[in-house]
Amino acid sequence: MISSWAGATLTIDLDAVAENARRLQARLAPGCRLAGVVKADSYGLGAARIAPVLQREGVRDFVVATLDEGIALRAVVGQGAAIIVLGGPFPGSEPEFAAHGLIPVLNSPEQVAAWRLGPSVLHVDTGMSRLGLTPAEVEALAGSDSLAAASPVMMMSHLACADEDGHPMNAQQLARLRVAQQRLGIAQVSFANSSGIFLGAEYHYQLVRPGMALYGLNPTPWLANPMVPVVGLQARIIQVREVDAGMTVGYGASHQIARPARLATVAAGYADGLFRSLGNRASGWLNGVRVPLVGRVSMDLIIFDVTDAPAGAAQAGAMIELLGPHQSADDLAAQGGTIGYEILTALGSRYARRYLGGV
Ligand SMILES: *Cc1c(COP(=O)(O)O)cnc(C)c1O
Repeated sequence: MISSWAGATLTIDLDAVAENARRLQARLAPGCRLAGVVKADSYGLGAARIAPVLQREGVRDFVVATLDEGIALRAVVGQGAAIIVLGGPFPGSEPEFAAHGLIPVLNSPEQVAAWRLGPSVLHVDTGMSRLGLTPAEVEALAGSDSLAAASPVMMMSHLACADEDGHPMNAQQLARLRVAQQRLGIAQVSFANSSGIFLGAEYHYQLVRPGMALYGLNPTPWLANPMVPVVGLQARIIQVREVDAGMTVGYGASHQIARPARLATVAAGYADGLFRSLGNRASGWLNGVRVPLVGRVSMDLIIFDVTDAPAGAAQAGAMIELLGPHQSADDLAAQGGTIGYEILTALGSRYARRYLGGV
């Protein structure tokens, strides 16, 4: 059990998730609906809390990555919801999908041949070279009894460059998708992830699959974030110390103090999902003042130079903001050379979690 004295507190605003769902739904072409992507435990934020919030916004389709995620989600969303499993069945696992009413994505001719237990989604690769049928495999399967027996009720594909407006891959993938749909004759299509929704109505088809935008990350990096923030992270100061010029900080002595300084040692580290690449690069915020993270990130500790923070603000027990009004997950990701998705999915289990609003 995590007590209220946890070193750091993660705040997840469920009303913000609902607002983001509404904002995305308002952008959709007529006849298009929103599936909530809740794989990886809703990007680390808690699918059991988030899926019911989405249901209240009218969402009845959910997307997970694995069979186990699908089974766990079924207990949360009940029998009425559709659950699509991106990875599809491993050989022999098909009856488990059927037993829980899960809709597999069929990614290969082998998965198509093995699935005979109800509706499925057929994945066509249009440029990821990761999962899905190649153009040659589409040709071979088109019109076949084997494909019909797999009962594909929808086809899907996934965009490689949707977060780059105007990238030529987007139109190229759309053209390949149209060719595949013509060959296969499947009426229902799902194509767009969060960023794909913002590429225009011709990318929407019947079902869009946003994840990150629901969780407040920016689906349009070329523009201001149209979503509302969902996640806050505050970590507690354990100790404040005065340090002389010339002293070094942390493992590897990677930071040297240039002037007499005050340092705050804070109770969070890479075991909590704060990447080592944030060392000497990231910042926190103390009472609205930016404080640089100095030295390397340790497993359970990080150190901030709080010399410029208001006197009295930096003391044991006070909280430093890592994610919040001054700094988004996208901002922190940029400081660590990664993406907001990785910040969210890496958030550790040691935080005290506070859910705001919701069902
Ligand atoms: C993860 C995933 C999504 C959601 O992507 P976002 O960029 O988070 O909106 C959609 N489709 C597939 C196939 C995915 O793997």
